[in-house]
Amino acid sequence: MEIKSAEFIMSNSDVAKCPKNSIPEYAFIGRSNVGKSSLINMLTSRKSLAKTSGRPGKTQLINHFIINKTWYLVDLPGYGYARVSKSAKKTFQKFITQYFSLREQLVSAFVLVDIRHKPQPIDLEFMQWLGENGIPFSVIFTKADKLKPKAVENHVAAYKAVMLETWEEMPNYFVTSSSKDIGKEDVLEYIHSLNENMILD
Ligand code: GDP
Repeated sequence: MEIKSAEFIMSNSDVAKCPKNSIPEYAFIGRSNVGKSSLINMLTSRKSLAKTSGRPGKTQLINHFIINKTWYLVDLPGYGYARVSKSAKKTFQKFITQYFSLREQLVSAFVLVDIRHKPQPIDLEFMQWLGENGIPFSVIFTKADKLKPKAVENHVAAYKAVMLETWEEMPNYFVTSSSKDIGKEDVLEYIHSLNENMILD
């Protein structure tokens, strides 16, 4: 899919104030510093559509961007930032669960995980929650350039093995690197195919 346009629409902390039309949307979420902003910039071929942080945990908002005037890319706040207080974590949880529970326009979520690390409980629990709530998602492994190709394979296999302890099958997944422009077309084509299916439905 060629990205012809990518525009910022709005940021807010209230799901009720998100755009009211029925444009299909795709939400990107993951731990702070996982490489979400870089991935969004890579996917949209824009240098700074999403701000690359340097200061994790700062952007606690739902950010809507419209792509090719046909679908929303939603940049959700990064979770699991250690220095956020307990009450802030609770508020965050509520806000995210509300987003996923109420947002009927959501076609699929993309849960980002850093390919270098072992499966983290916070990511596994979040995916479990999505599964239990019937919210479709794919996994996006980020920063693949930081590992040799063989290690990429091994880390994906190890991740799958852990997922298969609780899941019947490994959810759809993508291996990406924003630094090396890897995985971009795969993710965009996937979104394109989901958009096409929506039109046929
Ligand atoms: P966010 O907090 O999830 O939005 O993460 P950022 O996109 O701001 O990235 C966090 C850090 O990881 C920054 O220093 C990025 O330069 C770095 N980073 C992000 N993606 C990649 C990648 O694909 N490869 C490498 N080597 N570094 C990355």
